[in-house]
Amino acid sequence: MSTHVEPRMLEAYAAGDVDAAHAFSIEAHVVECADCQSTISQAVSPARLARVWSDVEDRLDAPRAGPVEAVLTRIGVPGHLARLLAATPSLTLSWLAAVIVVLACGVLLAQQGERGLLVFLCVAALLPLAGVAAAFGRGLDPVYELAVAAPLSSVRLLLIRAAAVLSVTIALAGAAALTLPGLGWSAAAWLLPSLGLTVTSLALCTYVAPLTAFGTVSTAWIAVVLFGALASQDRLAAFGMGAQATFVLLACCATVVLVLRHDHLELGRTL
Ligand SMILES: [Zn+2]
Repeated sequence: MSTHVEPRMLEAYAAGDVDAAHAFSIEAHVVECADCQSTISQAVSPARLARVWSDVEDRLDAPRAGPVEAVLTRIGVPGHLARLLAATPSLTLSWLAAVIVVLACGVLLAQQGERGLLVFLCVAALLPLAGVAAAFGRGLDPVYELAVAAPLSSVRLLLIRAAAVLSVTIALAGAAALTLPGLGWSAAAWLLPSLGLTVTSLALCTYVAPLTAFGTVSTAWIAVVLFGALASQDRLAAFGMGAQATFVLLACCATVVLVLRHDHLELGRTL
């Protein structure tokens, strides 16, 4: 065995005051030297030992990053935000898988004719809304407590989550729409209604509880689609030019309301 580590160095090591290079060489010696181990065990303060031990426990207990969180981190989303986003109920793999199944059924229906296409468009417009609604759901959210304690305002977190859910769901619905038979303008006809409905729901959330807001808007949407299909010659009346323009106007008005009243969106008040 080579010469022992100087007691002064051992003390500095025990106090955590040596650099990484010295620490490595001290550790290489100490693991094989009973004398130095005994010296160091007397030098380490119980408080530091407790702190190190609790760090070890924290690391062992920390949940591993899921695939969504890993992807978010890789594309440069900061760690705490990636965890909060990945824990959004409507950004989990199971939710996204459900969205894909619903869209696939919609595409199959759309192959059957105009009535099927109507169902696809109606559902494709509703899916982003459902995702954003779930992102608001207090009862559904495993990190609700964490979200409330996050170093972000809850309003900002909600809006970031809503934007993330909206973009992911719209991308999925867009991909599904590309497989529609006789690809035409109708493939994108759900997009503006979807944006209009989602922003309107968010604006409504500044007045009433989210469950009421999302429920009211979804019901109204289904009623409009059905009414359009039954009362007009054009079965897709709810997706025609007039309707599209109305949804753009609705989205603009709702955005203004949301900007003016965003302080009324409170995570603690949801559902
Ligand atoms: Zn030694």
